[in-house]
Amino acid sequence: MTSVLSIQNISKSYGPIAALKGVSFDVPEGSVFGVLGPNGSGKTTLLGIILDVLLAKGGTFSWFGGMPHDQARKEIGSLLETPNFYHYLSAYNNLEITAALRGKGEDDRIRVLKQVGLFERKDSKFQTFSLGMKQRLAIGAALLGRPKVLVLDEPTNGLDPAGIAEIRELIRSLNREGITIIIASHLLDEIEKVCTHVAILKRGDLLLSGHVDEVLVSEDQVEVRAADMNLLQEVLKGLAGVKKVRLAEQTLQLSCDEYTGTSQVNEYCISKGIILSHLLLRKKSLETKFMELTNEQKPA
Ligand code: ATP
Repeated sequence: MTSVLSIQNISKSYGPIAALKGVSFDVPEGSVFGVLGPNGSGKTTLLGIILDVLLAKGGTFSWFGGMPHDQARKEIGSLLETPNFYHYLSAYNNLEITAALRGKGEDDRIRVLKQVGLFERKDSKFQTFSLGMKQRLAIGAALLGRPKVLVLDEPTNGLDPAGIAEIRELIRSLNREGITIIIASHLLDEIEKVCTHVAILKRGDLLLSGHVDEVLVSEDQVEVRAADMNLLQEVLKGLAGVKKVRLAEQTLQLSCDEYTGTSQVNEYCISKGIILSHLLLRKKSLETKFMELTNEQKPA
């Protein structure tokens, strides 16, 4: 798969604070790429660097296979901070001001308003918008000029669940139109619903990156129970694809390799004369994985 962005060994310090410590990953074309991490992990710093707002201390990054940065910037729409829209002006007039600053015409404004689902409300004053609509307009402003890539920093910050759902749907529909989307967020469950790929940062270190499915699949667990749990535990030690067996609450939890799933476990147990009373594939959520990786406590 072609990369729209390749980041190699990026580092950045603010005086004694190492905000990024040699971060490398590729963003595949057509992906929704989540840059995840708790507060202070370096997400905003990384976005600032790839958008040429901040200068890295070390490392390199290249857009679109090495396109000069000034040219590449024309293909990238970004939303790092909520723009200062005028409350008493309409959505259309607000975009008119933004578009004028960027030299974009009326066609583009209308297209963008349709894209973010605000065309019907184009003449409503900004102050009458819900927070979700305001954020959609901000994303609209980033879409002026038909960028191929959209970079969003915490796009659902401060939104209620309905607003979060609106942005999620918008991200999905923009991605279906072919736009690659890079999102920094700490809202893992939201990211899990919308992202195809993730990179997880902790205090400036890249802990992991890859396709969401690969990240999750490598951590699946198979749960089993049988009448004789001791015998079951003994027998399962002989199944080659089982990496770890753990007994918790009268259930055996098996960490398996990628070739071993519920059917392999079931067939093996039957071949050993054991009938399972419980067999379940438990996929680890990205949040669980994230909490493990970053040693953060899951909020109550
Ligand atoms: P958040 O989710 O809180 O926005 P983040 O993951 O985006 O966090 P950054 O804002 O990139 O992380 O910050 C990374 C580290 O760099 C933090 O320790 C932060 O305090 C520090 N930092 C960021 N900007 C500055 C600055 N201008 N001056 C000094 N330190 C900074």
